[in-house]
Amino acid sequence: YASKEKGGHTATPYIPEQFKGKEVSLSIEKELSKALAEERLEVYYQPKYSVCDERDSQLFGAEALARWTHAEWGPVSPATFIPIAEESRMIVTLENLVIKKVVAQMEEWKRAGRAVFRVSINLSLATILQQQFIPYVKATLRYHGISGDLIEFELTERMVMQNEREVNAKMREMQSMGITISIDDFGTGYSSLSYLHQLSIDRLKIDQSFVQQDDAKGIIASIIQMADSLNLRVIAEGVENEQQLQTLRELGCTEVQGFYFGRPVPAYEYERQYLYLMNS
Ligand code: C2E
Ligand code: MG
Ligand code: MG
Ligand code: MG
Repeated sequence: YASKEKGGHTATPYIPEQFKGKEVSLSIEKELSKALAEERLEVYYQPKYSVCDERDSQLFGAEALARWTHAEWGPVSPATFIPIAEESRMIVTLENLVIKKVVAQMEEWKRAGRAVFRVSINLSLATILQQQFIPYVKATLRYHGISGDLIEFELTERMVMQNEREVNAKMREMQSMGITISIDDFGTGYSSLSYLHQLSIDRLKIDQSFVQQDDAKGIIASIIQMADSLNLRVIAEGVENEQQLQTLRELGCTEVQGFYFGRPVPAYEYERQYLYLMNS
């Protein structure tokens, strides 16, 4: 409960017992569609740190995570509504809304004289493959006066594998706008070194299941080695304690994200805690 109040990850969907099965999906779909039409979706921000220096961790960005609270059901976990949105193609609307909210928020932070760090946004295959997607991103960035350097997109391994040529072309186009591309939940999708070599990506994001297993050190080490030989950056997600951090550091991973460093929080909270005022 405490973690929910802090805006953390809600592991189990907050759906009343009487709604289970197919009807639930339908009612979630209907309610989500209404929420999106009214832009009633929130974005939380989880800090990302660089821990190169033993004694000092430095904030270098955040991940944007969609949050939806239903008037009667309460908060619904992304693990519940994202897959439903993906099936119904509402995901395109949802992600366009997240992008708009993040970029508008960054403009506000800039205007308020805050330090602005890069924000990463999760994308689905349907969104990327949309004809209008890249023009939409360009127009949104231009409208709010935000540079592509401040944006990162997170794609999963599976998404890329499903439609490699087209996705790779889109990734290149986004990179030419200054946008960073990372592969989320890395290690869960069986990518090989030679496969990754063909892709235009900047960073691998080690899946939290490896970070949290005691016996996955070897896997983490080989992911880091792969990244090194391909000249990619690596970040670990789901870091929950000092022990996990020490292991990652030993293995040479210096970019981290997880509850140990900070939970996802609403925009105003992220601003207050992390975005210092410039020239003051
Ligand atoms: P993800 O992109 O892998 O995001 C990381 C998830 O792990 C988030 O869950 C985050 O709150 C949680 N997390 C972060 N640090 C820790 C930790 O130390 N321990 C544990 N146990 N969990 C941690 P969240 O916000 O519930 O999101 C779940 C997934 O939903 C995300 O996984 C992402 O795949 C998806 N998602 C959220 N927003 C969007 C979106 O706008 N578009 C798409 N396509 N997917 C989204
Ligand atoms: Mg992600
Ligand atoms: Mg992930
Ligand atoms: Mg994940």
